[in-house]
Amino acid sequence: MSNFLESVSQNFDKAAALTGLPEGLLAQIKVSNAVYRMNFPVKIGNKYEVIEAYRVQHSHHRSPTKGGIRFSQKVNQEEVEALAALMTYKCALVDVPFGGSKGGVRISPRNYTTAQLQKITRRYTAELIRKNFIGPGIDVPAPDYGTGPREMAWILDTYQSFKGGDIDAAGCVTGKPVSQHGIRGRTEATGRGVYYGVREAMSHKNDMKALGLTVGLGGKSVAIQGFGNVGYYSAKIMSEEGGAKIVCIAEYEGAIYAKDGIDIEGLAKYRKETGTIMDFPGTENLPTRKGIFKVDCDVMVPAALENQITMNNVKQIKAKIVVEAANGPVTADASEYLIKKGVMIIPDMFINAGGVTVSYFEWLKNLSHMRFGRMEKRFNQNTYLNLMKTVEDMTGKKIGAKEKLILTRGADEVDLVRSGLEETMITAYNEIRDVMKRRKKVEDLRTAAFISALNKISSDYLALGIFP
Ligand code: NAD
Repeated sequence: MSNFLESVSQNFDKAAALTGLPEGLLAQIKVSNAVYRMNFPVKIGNKYEVIEAYRVQHSHHRSPTKGGIRFSQKVNQEEVEALAALMTYKCALVDVPFGGSKGGVRISPRNYTTAQLQKITRRYTAELIRKNFIGPGIDVPAPDYGTGPREMAWILDTYQSFKGGDIDAAGCVTGKPVSQHGIRGRTEATGRGVYYGVREAMSHKNDMKALGLTVGLGGKSVAIQGFGNVGYYSAKIMSEEGGAKIVCIAEYEGAIYAKDGIDIEGLAKYRKETGTIMDFPGTENLPTRKGIFKVDCDVMVPAALENQITMNNVKQIKAKIVVEAANGPVTADASEYLIKKGVMIIPDMFINAGGVTVSYFEWLKNLSHMRFGRMEKRFNQNTYLNLMKTVEDMTGKKIGAKEKLILTRGADEVDLVRSGLEETMITAYNEIRDVMKRRKKVEDLRTAAFISALNKISSDYLALGIFP
C-alpha cells in the first residue's frame, strides 16, 4: 500500500477504535465503493498517446459524490483512493451533503499545450459520461492539483454537448469560471477557509498558551510550501486580513525567506513575469526547496502535495502549529511524532474544506438557476435605509453619507459566500475541539475530526437499519 493511503488508513483505524461503532459498518465506511480505471488514446502532435486516468467514488452514503480532479505525473489508483476517502470525511465534517470521490489523470500538465490539455480533459469527461460517472445527481468533479476553472469549463461544455436538454447540467462540475455558471469566491475558497480555520484555532487563549503562543494570527511568522491556488490564497488572506508575516515560500524551483515578511501580491506578479519565485527582491534564496522545513516560524503550512513531512525531516520542524492545507502532507508516523512533541496539527479534512464548501454553494446556485443575493439585496438595502432615516428622525442627528453607504449595503453573492464559508469553518472547528476536550483518549484534532465525521456518516447507515 502507498504511504498516503496507508496514512489515511492508520488515521482512520486510530479514530475508529474510539467510536464504538460496529466493525462491519466501519469496514463499509472505510472501503472505496467504486473504482473506474481507464486508458484512452489522445492524438498529441503526430502520435497517439495512451492516457491513464481514474475516478474513485469512495462513499455512496449520500448523493451525489464530490471531489476534485488532479492532473499529475504521480497519479495512481491508491493516491486517488486516499484522496476520495478524505473527501467523504471532509464533507461529513463540514455538513456538506455529499459522498466523497476523486479523479486523477496521469499527466504532467507542463508537458502539454493548452489545446492538448483541452483534448485530454474533454476525452476524460466523455469516458466519465460513458460509464455514468458524472452528473449533477451522480458525481460532481472540481479543481485539484494541476487543474482550475479553465478545465472545469471544458468539462461542463463536454457534458452539455452529450446531455443536451438536461436543465441542471451546470451542476455537473464546480469550480467553473463565474461567466460559465461558476460562483464568486470559489477560486479563493480553499485558501480563505484555511485563514478562517487558523484564525479560529488561534483565538482560544488556553490552547495557544499551551503551545507557548499568544492568542491571534496577527504578527505570527508563517511558512508556506506551494504557491499554487491554495498556497497563494492562504498566504494572501492570512497576511492581508489576518496580519500574519509570511516569512518563507517554497515552490517547485526553490524556496525564499524574509525575516520581516514577503510581499505576497508582489511575489505573485514577479512569478508571472519571470516564471520563478527565486531572487525576489527583499528575500534571500534558501539552498533547496526543502529548506522551508528548517525555517524558524510559528506556523507551517504545507500546501503542495501529500507526504511532505515524513520521519526523514519531521525533526527539523520548529513550528508550533502545522496547518495541512494540502491533502495528506504529513505522514501518519510523522504526525504521531509531532503530536507527542506537543505540536498542534490542524488536519487536512477540516482545514482545506473551504473548497468543497463553496463548491456546494455553487452546485446549489446551479440547481436553483439564480445568483445568491438577487432576491433580497435591494430589499435589505431599503430596510436599512428606512431604519437609518428613523434613527435620524428620532435623534435629530444626520448620519454621514460614507457611514450610510457602509451601514445600508445589501449583500452581494461574494459576501454571502464568504459569510457561509466563515460560519462553516468556525462551527466545524469548535465541533472538533469539543470532541477533543470532552474525550480524554482523544489527544489530537485529526482523531477528533475523524470521530465527528464517522459518527455523522454512520448515522446515515444506521438509519437504514442495515447494521444492527
Ligand atoms: P496547484 O496545482 O494550484 O498548486 C500546487 C503548487 O505546489 C504548484 O505551484 C506546484 O508547483 C507546487 N509544488 C509541487 N511540489 C512542490 C514541492 N515539493 N515544493 C514546493 N512546491 C511544490 O494545486 P492546489 O489546487 O493549490 O492544490 C494543492 C494541495 O491542496 C493539493 O494537495 C490538493 O489536493 C489540495 N486541495 C486543493 C483544493 C482546491 O480547491 N484547489 C481544495 C482542497 C485541497
